[in-house]
Amino acid sequence: MKWITHQTGAVALAIAMQWPAAGIVASALGAVAPDMIDQKISKLGRNPKERQKIFNKIHRGHSHWFGWWALALVAAMAYSPPWLAKDALLGFALGGLSHILLDTLTPQGTPLLPFSHKTRLSLNLCRTGSAGEYIFLVLMIVACAFAYGDAFAHYLEKAAYYLRSMKGIF
Ligand SMILES: [Zn+2]
Repeated sequence: MKWITHQTGAVALAIAMQWPAAGIVASALGAVAPDMIDQKISKLGRNPKERQKIFNKIHRGHSHWFGWWALALVAAMAYSPPWLAKDALLGFALGGLSHILLDTLTPQGTPLLPFSHKTRLSLNLCRTGSAGEYIFLVLMIVACAFAYGDAFAHYLEKAAYYLRSMKGIF
């Protein structure tokens, strides 16, 4: 799945669960984290060819096992840092988990088990970047707008506020 689909899915889920704005922003980050992890690891390669080789080998392996993200979610629930950090951790873990769920819709799927990635979970509904994926994306946005139109506008405002205040920090 494309990142835009992952981020839309995670944000829609976080809004549906009525999470605070910080959690929603973090869910958009967590939504792309599994792929970012694979990309970062592949950068260990010394040249583009080697990097591609590493990426092909590790992509949708450990970073895409649902269990790690489910554990992260449980840990975030159990851990009690200051409120904003807790919201952010919860959102990040939820975003990661939603990424795995969405990748499970594609033919390549995600690993069923943590250390052997051969057995895959796949619903084989749509290929990454296919028309099917974009139809799915539009349906998610429409469903979200219908169900949570007002809340969505409210959260967008809050998310914009957080992003603006983050700019001041970095
Ligand atoms: Zn992925």
